[in-house]
Amino acid sequence: VSAGVRARRRPIEIALVGSVVRPLKTAERFARDLVRDIIDRGMQPDDVLPPEAAMLEQYGVSRESLREGLRLLEVQGLINIRRGPAGGPVVGYVDPANLGRTASLYFHMSGCTYRELFEAWAVGEGILAERGARNPDAERRRATMRPFLGGLHPDMPDEELADYIAAHLTFHGALSSLADNRALALTLRVYGQIVSHHMAIDDDPRFLREQIVHDHADIARAVYDGRAKQAGSLMVHHIESIIAQVSAHLGDGVDDYVEWH
Ligand SMILES: [Zn+2]
Repeated sequence: VSAGVRARRRPIEIALVGSVVRPLKTAERFARDLVRDIIDRGMQPDDVLPPEAAMLEQYGVSRESLREGLRLLEVQGLINIRRGPAGGPVVGYVDPANLGRTASLYFHMSGCTYRELFEAWAVGEGILAERGARNPDAERRRATMRPFLGGLHPDMPDEELADYIAAHLTFHGALSSLADNRALALTLRVYGQIVSHHMAIDDDPRFLREQIVHDHADIARAVYDGRAKQAGSLMVHHIESIIAQVSAHLGDGVDDYVEWH
């Protein structure tokens, strides 16, 4: 960000009172109903949704509203539109990265900096680790952490940068599943997704490998043993050491507004 842009930019304040009630537009109502039906029918990722003509009839909306509704869901990654003659909408994935994409636009508008994002990441991962270690199902806790007792998952390749980042996120994802709260798991993972995305684009975090393997092994052991406070503080320390490296690389950029590239 150039000095000129920095001087001019002015974030938009976060509304103190959010809108409580807002009537849904037809396209949004259709999107809501479609999501509901996907779940009620037990559909899973990549399952094919009905063709457009069938949906027009079933949901009683205009072609315009239908396409707008599908587009709404496609942007969120909740459905995918396959192009081509055999194309059409299919069920998508619940991927915190897509929530991160939306969140990063809010972060930018509100003037949230990388420094703030990093802080939220450390807080969030600490909460997930502590809750995960408190999971009363000791057998499940051990089974989930066992593959990570040596650090990175042994079955995950890590030569390629994308694989390496995926291997890192796999540990954090597994741990978040032990928190047994999908609202927390989804929203608190958003921060790490955004940071990881940036690292994948701007940086090569593989030099952190030794540190990460060592940290993960320690955290996995604490969760395995059910030492909640320790799991939380080890995790915060782990995230903070990654942040220190990323911040050094970013320099003044830590005070830039969060952006999704
Ligand atoms: Zn990690």
